[in-house]
Amino acid sequence: MPQARLSIPALLDRLEEFYGPQEPCFPTEPYEFLVWWHCGYPASDVSCAKGWDKLTREVGVEPHKLLSARPLKLASALKVGGMVPELRAERLKEIAMRVQDEFGGDLRAALAGPLAKARRVLKGFPGIADPGADRILLFAGIAPLAAVPSNTPHVLIRIRQGRESENYSVNYGEAQHAIADEVPEKFDSRTRAYLLLKHHGQEICKRKPKCNQCPISANCAYFSTS
Ligand code: SF4
Repeated sequence: MPQARLSIPALLDRLEEFYGPQEPCFPTEPYEFLVWWHCGYPASDVSCAKGWDKLTREVGVEPHKLLSARPLKLASALKVGGMVPELRAERLKEIAMRVQDEFGGDLRAALAGPLAKARRVLKGFPGIADPGADRILLFAGIAPLAAVPSNTPHVLIRIRQGRESENYSVNYGEAQHAIADEVPEKFDSRTRAYLLLKHHGQEICKRKPKCNQCPISANCAYFSTS
């Protein structure tokens, strides 16, 4: 068994001491995040940042700029972000058209009101499921949801239970419950939790974890049983 079970806020303090404070490396405005998410494939912070940089320099990201750009030019700007740039260029046009035609160019305004409606709007865009919707609503300051980084839901499960499930939805749901129970329902607390767990999952608690370098191994169920 681990030496002591730490609360999630205490684990986050340890992670922050080790990694330093984290800032989002992605746009937090809902429309811009949707564009950013399609700037790389497979989507990652690095691939999306590369595509986003080139797109903002060569085309721009506002709906009218994406809609008036030639598909070839869009695809050429997105190529640096990875595979299927032509398909991602089509997706960007679809996003821009919907935001312009259905929401008058103001996606944030369309997300005001009941949470269920905001989720429905976001999940209507390509590539956005519940984890993406949670992340957008949290970082945009719309709802302080218990969002879990979509590529690292295993981190909290390993610390608390040991081995993660093979089922992604089970891991996501359990990690979300743990955050909802222990991390105050405030924007700064929940964004901090998201960013630190994401960073830890990307740097050390990877698919193949580097437990010998981990600052919280003494409090981790996975480590104590491995
Ligand atoms: S000890 Fe290993 S499994 Fe546990 S949090 Fe650290 S890296 Fe992940």
